Amino acid sequence: MNIHEFQARQLLARYGVALPAGEVCDSAGAAQQAAAKLLAQGCHGLAIKAQIHAGGRGKGTFRSGFQGGVKLCRTAGEVFDNARAMLGQALVTKQTGPEGRLVSKVLVTAAPVIKRELYGAVLLDRAASRPVVMASAEGGVDIEEVAARHPKKIIREAVDPSAGLMPFQGRKLAVALELKGDLIAAGAKMFGGLYKTWRECDASLVEINPLCVIAGPEGKESLMAVDAKITLDDNALYRHPELQAMRDLAEESPLEIEAGRHNLNYIKLDGNIACLVNGAGLAMATMDIIQHFGGEPANFLDVGGGASREQVAAAFKIILSDPHVKAILVNIFGGIMDCNIIAAGIVEAVKETGLQLPLIVRLEGNNAAAGQQTLAQSGVAIITAEGMADAARKVVKAVEK
Ligand code: GDP
Ligand code: MN
Repeated sequence: MNIHEFQARQLLARYGVALPAGEVCDSAGAAQQAAAKLLAQGCHGLAIKAQIHAGGRGKGTFRSGFQGGVKLCRTAGEVFDNARAMLGQALVTKQTGPEGRLVSKVLVTAAPVIKRELYGAVLLDRAASRPVVMASAEGGVDIEEVAARHPKKIIREAVDPSAGLMPFQGRKLAVALELKGDLIAAGAKMFGGLYKTWRECDASLVEINPLCVIAGPEGKESLMAVDAKITLDDNALYRHPELQAMRDLAEESPLEIEAGRHNLNYIKLDGNIACLVNGAGLAMATMDIIQHFGGEPANFLDVGGGASREQVAAAFKIILSDPHVKAILVNIFGGIMDCNIIAAGIVEAVKETGLQLPLIVRLEGNNAAAGQQTLAQSGVAIITAEGMADAARKVVKAVEK
């Protein structure tokens, strides 16, 4: 589950990570007030930032034509004008797709003078089976690009999960980033805080880009997290009701939310061949074989090992509510799953939705014969297939027609 920048900041602050002061607002008036308050506290610059679950906001463009989801301002009036231009509008960035994301909140922060933009992150290194702290002196830019072009510019420090990030490791990272003097201790504290946030919140990713060296009064420098992204591990959310409450359904695909309500694992994709499969491995293999024969899957859908007739019918309706779908492939290998339950669910859903699209079904395994019979007797137009290759070929051909 992703959360917003303003929510990530709340969690980071809890674990001692230094951040510019700020406030989240849902109206231009509130943004102006927050700005006035920050100015009264003595900050000399302000930033206003659109809150959406996507990065690249700084370089993004609103569908209204307004440029930039991150703006630096001098006055509360400027913050008001920018808030009015952002709120209620869709922001398109490299990560949102062309339809963009509706902005319903903005974050107003003090904008410190930035001397250097660094990068810091904590994630799980699956190859090493350890948490890893990643840092780079090349912050503020697309880190994937840095990783691809200059992999040596990314520093990694693996963490022993039973000990946590040791202070010497934090200092080592700080020195590798060429921090000097007091900033070495500040860097160690920053990385310690990032690791602690990751660990305590059961996050899968904590990412600060940019992590900034800030110019303070009398030339005294400090470190601050100027942007914040946190992804939480869905499998651990049950342990954190207060984090669960941070979920923003407006940021999630309505079809995926509906699937979640029926305990179905559904992920929408860009193709036109819908798939309904039991088991995640078989679902992935089905998407692969569709592509092998020149088709494009419209979704990943795993109905699980013991789906009920109602779940199958719900799954069918979900895949059909994607307007791009031109044909459907049902691929079931019944182990625990009774093929006849799948067949009954399909018939129910086809009748209820008045399906007109080609429907290709491959049923194999537990009670397959009964399932085939249910389908044959239903009067529903179904193209049956023998094995996966045959099913994939048939569905690709049906779409080409
Ligand atoms: P993103 O584009 O979604 O990653 O949003 P960021 O919060 O990272 O903002 C994009 C860029 O705007 C940053 O890399 C900074 O260069 C700049 N920026 C953001 N906040 C501030 C700030 O408080 N002060 C200054 N000087 N620049 C900022
Ligand atoms: Mn950023």
